[in-house]
Amino acid sequence: MTRVIVVGAGVVGLACAVRLLESGHRVDVLARDLPLETTSSVAAAFWYPYRAFPQERVTAWAATAYAEFVGLAGEEHSGVRMVTGTEYLHRRQPDPWWISAVPSLARESALPDGYADGWSFTTPIIEMPIYLGWLIERIEALGGTITRLNLSALPTGSCPVVNCAGLGARFLGSDKSVVPVSGQTVLVEQVGLARWSLDESGPTYVVPRSCDIVIGGTADEGEWNRTPSPEAARAILDRATRLVPALEGAKVLRHKVGLRPVRPAVRVERVGDVVHCYGHGGAGVTLSWGAADEVVRLLERD
Ligand SMILES: Cc1cc2nc3c(=O)[nH]c(=O)nc-3n(C[C@H](O)[C@H](O)[C@H](O)COP(=O)(O)OP(=O)(O)OC[C@H]3O[C@@H](n4cnc5c(N)ncnc54)[C@H](O)[C@@H]3O)c2cc1C
Repeated sequence: MTRVIVVGAGVVGLACAVRLLESGHRVDVLARDLPLETTSSVAAAFWYPYRAFPQERVTAWAATAYAEFVGLAGEEHSGVRMVTGTEYLHRRQPDPWWISAVPSLARESALPDGYADGWSFTTPIIEMPIYLGWLIERIEALGGTITRLNLSALPTGSCPVVNCAGLGARFLGSDKSVVPVSGQTVLVEQVGLARWSLDESGPTYVVPRSCDIVIGGTADEGEWNRTPSPEAARAILDRATRLVPALEGAKVLRHKVGLRPVRPAVRVERVGDVVHCYGHGGAGVTLSWGAADEVVRLLERD
C-alpha cells in the first residue's frame, strides 16, 4: 500500500481519491476549498463533453465515466439519474465527435423555430450537491481523509502526489495555459420538467434536477469575476425560455458563477512522483472517472 496525497477536492480529485482507495492505497486529500465550495459544486451537471480537448482522449474518458454513471444511477442517494433530452442545432451537422461514447443518439425532427437540426440521447444528470456528498462518504468509508489546506506549492518528498487543483494548477504548477472560462447559472423552481435541453451556441442549457432546474449559461474566457451579473441572468432566462417555454414565470431561487478550468489539452500526465490531472474545462464531471482510472494506471506504472 502506498500513501498518496491528492491535491484538490473537486469532482476530479474526489474521483481520483476513490479509485486510488479502491486500488488499495492510503489516500489523504488536501484542498483549499472543500467539495461544496468548489467549481464542481456549481456544475449543472450533465454528461456532455464541452470545452475539453483533445477529442480522442476526451471521448475515451467520457465513455468510461458514462458507464460508471449508468451504474451509479441505480444506486440510491448517489444523485445520479439517466435523463433523455435534446441538443438543438442552428445548422445541419454531422454526428458529434463524441458519438462513440453514448449507446445511442437519434436525430430529432420536431424542432423549435430557428433550429435546423437536433439530436436526442439519454445522458446522466448528476446533482452535484448530492453527488459530492456521496463521493465524500465513499472516500471516508474506504478510509481516506479530506483536509482543508491552502498550499503554496505541491507537496514534495515522502509520497506520490496527484495534482487535481483545477484552475489552481495555474499557480501551484505555474501552468499559465489553464485559464478561467466563467459560467453563470440561474436556479429556478421545478415546474414539472423531465427532459434536458441544450443549444451549445449560447451556451443555453436547461437541466432538470429533483427539486429545481439549473439554467445556463455563459462562457467568458479570461473572466475571473465570480459575482453573478443581473444582465447575464436576464439574458440566460430569456434564451432558456425561448428554448423551453414551460420555464415562463418559473420562480428564481439562486444565481451562481463558477470558473471552468480550461486548457488547450486536459493534462493527465506523470512527471516523477507527481501525476497531474487538471484542465478538464467544461466537462470535469463528464470525464472524471475516465481520467481517474488513467491516474491510477500512471501512478502504479513501474
Ligand atoms: C456553470 C458551470 C456549469 C458546468 N456544467 C458542467 C456539466 O454540466 N458537466 C460537466 O461535466 N462539467 C460542467 N462544468 C465544468 C466542471 O464544473 C469542471 O470541469 C470541474 O468542476 C472541474 O473539476 P476539478 O475537480 O478539476 O476542479 P475544481 O472543482 O475547481 O476543484 C479544484 C480543487 O483544487 C483545490 N485547490 C486549488 N488550488 C489549491 C491550493 N493552492 N491549495 C490547495 N487546494 C487547492 C480547490 O480548492 C478545489 O478543492 C461546469 C462548470 C460551470 C462553471
